[in-house]
Amino acid sequence: MNRLSGQARQQLQSIASWLHKSRLSGQILKRTKVAEGWIRKHGLDASLVLALIIVFTQAALLIFNQLRPNHPVLGLKFENSYVHQLSGDGLHAKVKTVLDANDQRPLLIRVGKYQAHITPRQLGAAHDSRLIEQRLLKLGHQGSLWQRLIDQDASLLGLRNLKDSFRTINKQLASVYLLQVNSQVQVAPLNASFVYQDQKLTVQPGSAGLQINIDQAIAALQSVDLSKSNTDLNLPVDHPAPAVSQQELEPLLPQAQKVVARPLTIVGGDKQIRLDSAQLTALLQAEKKPDPSNPSKQVVVISYSDAKLSAVLDQLASQVVVPAQPKVVAGQKVLSAGSSGVHLDGTHAKVAVITELEKRQLQPASQPASAPAPQPAPAAKPQPAPPAQPTPAPKPPQPAPAPAATKPPETPVAPAVGDSIIVPVEKTDAPVINQNASTNPLGRYPATLNGKNMIYLTFDDGPGGYTEQLLDILKRYNVHAVFFLIGKNSAVYPQTVKRIRAEGHTIGNHSYTHSDLSKLSESGVNDELVKTQNTIRDLTSITPDLFRPPYGSLSTSVYNSTAKNSLSIMMWSIDPRDWSMPGASVIVQRIIAGAAPGGNVLLHCNHQQTVEALSSIIEGLRAKGYTLP
Ligand SMILES: [Zn+2]
Repeated sequence: MNRLSGQARQQLQSIASWLHKSRLSGQILKRTKVAEGWIRKHGLDASLVLALIIVFTQAALLIFNQLRPNHPVLGLKFENSYVHQLSGDGLHAKVKTVLDANDQRPLLIRVGKYQAHITPRQLGAAHDSRLIEQRLLKLGHQGSLWQRLIDQDASLLGLRNLKDSFRTINKQLASVYLLQVNSQVQVAPLNASFVYQDQKLTVQPGSAGLQINIDQAIAALQSVDLSKSNTDLNLPVDHPAPAVSQQELEPLLPQAQKVVARPLTIVGGDKQIRLDSAQLTALLQAEKKPDPSNPSKQVVVISYSDAKLSAVLDQLASQVVVPAQPKVVAGQKVLSAGSSGVHLDGTHAKVAVITELEKRQLQPASQPASAPAPQPAPAAKPQPAPPAQPTPAPKPPQPAPAPAATKPPETPVAPAVGDSIIVPVEKTDAPVINQNASTNPLGRYPATLNGKNMIYLTFDDGPGGYTEQLLDILKRYNVHAVFFLIGKNSAVYPQTVKRIRAEGHTIGNHSYTHSDLSKLSESGVNDELVKTQNTIRDLTSITPDLFRPPYGSLSTSVYNSTAKNSLSIMMWSIDPRDWSMPGASVIVQRIIAGAAPGGNVLLHCNHQQTVEALSSIIEGLRAKGYTLP
């Protein structure tokens, strides 16, 4: 017996157990003893005889099974249960358990020094469990001799399912995840850059980067076989070279000199911020662009880092901002008149700063105030400068501002002409807050729950192209949100609306056409609300009881119509302005900075950056100790 292979032994065991069940065992045992004596007497090889018996029984079973094509193959097991004994529900539950277990198995991924565990479930693995059930039943009913030999082993079926786990991951979710890993690996190619040191501008060489090759990495993930004991994966990487080299950047040094030679003061409202040469240098970057005179050729040009400029302007904006005081209305009675506010118009401020810096770039080296005589001639031509020229040439005007730049904050004196620019500041009207409009209507969204600080995510303007991806991420983190849906969009994405409901999120009304309802008549508002209520009820069989006005715009008509439709108005308290697409990291920062117990975060369903930010928003809020429902 011990010379038999494991496979044959299992075959024997399953036959034996069948025999045992069929009450033939006693007789067989007797016969086996007789056969044993017979084998000994004739001096035959016991294992050869056993092998012959196996082949013979298998052949007999094959004929037996072929004669009864609609009956289950005897002896087929899946996860220690006989398939023919499992009823529909039993098999269903068994398959689900196995798939669940497989989807939770972690895989260790490595990129350079970075490593992390990832499970197929986190990447949205989705099996067709019905297909696997059908496959099993088919095998149970129509299995041939060959299948019995190859497939009957329960563990073999299990293994095949394990292999399926990563094969069924959601590519979009996987690429979002890999992009995040890429940002943590953070060895992006470094272009040659300008550095300002010892009051001198020079060019620093770039270096090659490291980044995950997303397409190849997804393919590698999909071919992972979790049944293998060694479950690590080195993700395929690229080593992109810097797009701009030191040699290409050096000719631009004279131009860059002119940009950073004088400090720049940015004035917004009654506040200002002053950038010295080093800070201006930090804004400089170089990029390749098609040559305007010959688009097939690429030229290296100076440009300005959007992220760094945003950071500078955000700093100024945080000083400039004066929040608007809401005008509080109860019904038609004004309780508080409110006041308007101001804030920096970030987009136009950026344009103003870049325009100024570009103007400097093109300027002949003469300066309005203190231009030294020898300057204009050499600096006017942006010819590849002799290495000596950049340093001494613009230096003369510098000594004056440079020492001042070391202690600028205490000198809010009017800056020299040409050194300051005024960026736009916007006035905002006082928002009208209805007394009945709150971030916690019906008391459903308290600041603390069971002693935990709560915070709530809400998504407006869906369903749309990105809603499914948002749902995938919320599911991955087991977070539930409120979706304020537009009626018209709901009719276009009925399956998404059903999924929002099925996955336990709350659905609110966000009007039918997303118009500014405060400009409509009461019957117009009512029409917007009722049509949306009906659309959502038809799809989900629930009628929303929450309403969020498009643009936060409220009026007496809106108030009356919501009351008539038994809708409570839900506003928000944290607005990261994701719709303005400030970059995923800015969205995350704004939310984390604004987080407070009972906070209600306003996000949107129709922007890629919201999808990119969502995982970090959830992780960031949890890291700050907040609980999301
Ligand atoms: Zn909206």
